[in-house]
Amino acid sequence: MNICVYGAASPSIAPVFIEQGEALGREMVKRSHALVFGGGALGLMGAVARGVREGGGTIIGVVPRFFEHDAAETLFTACDEYIQTDTMRERKHIMEDRADAFVITPGGIGTFEEFLEILTLRQLCRHEKPIAIFNVDGYYDTLLAFLREAIDKGFLKATCLTLFCVTDDVQILLDYLEQTPQAGGSVQDYKEG
Ligand code: AMP
Repeated sequence: MNICVYGAASPSIAPVFIEQGEALGREMVKRSHALVFGGGALGLMGAVARGVREGGGTIIGVVPRFFEHDAAETLFTACDEYIQTDTMRERKHIMEDRADAFVITPGGIGTFEEFLEILTLRQLCRHEKPIAIFNVDGYYDTLLAFLREAIDKGFLKATCLTLFCVTDDVQILLDYLEQTPQAGGSVQDYKEG
């Protein structure tokens, strides 16, 4: 399947994140999955793309044209398919469309936004594609604690947390994406209000 991977553009991160990103890319290829991603060459985006490239896998990069002026040196252009868009919105839309599953690796606000958008769409039953958080070194523990606080305070339904898996193990993560049937359900099952 096509797996859309979101993750840090920043290279100023600990080596464990880079190593685990590359390992994820390599394992995706072993299992015959293609990568859909934002086209960044650095940080976790670059690490996953390198892992996929090393293994001889397929890479689909979706990049807004303005990145080519503003951040050209940080783009991973060795993609099998390189899709240019006019806006970030169009780019996200194409990434979502082309993906059969989503992986959120450690990242900054760009990645948070991508995770929350894909989860919001899942909660609203706009798609039934599996979502997994690759929780390298417990990076997302505090975000998950915040989501639990939102449940305790009535802002979120507890069932919302059943819409994605959290693991720091690449094998468990890919098993989940490949094997877990996605419950249909209705908006009321997952959303307050
Ligand atoms: P951040 O987590 O803030 O580093 O943003 C990374 C996420 O936003 C990635 O998953 C990309 O889809 C997108 N993004 C942000 N900056 C870049 C960049 N320089 N190159 C490619 N994608 C980027």
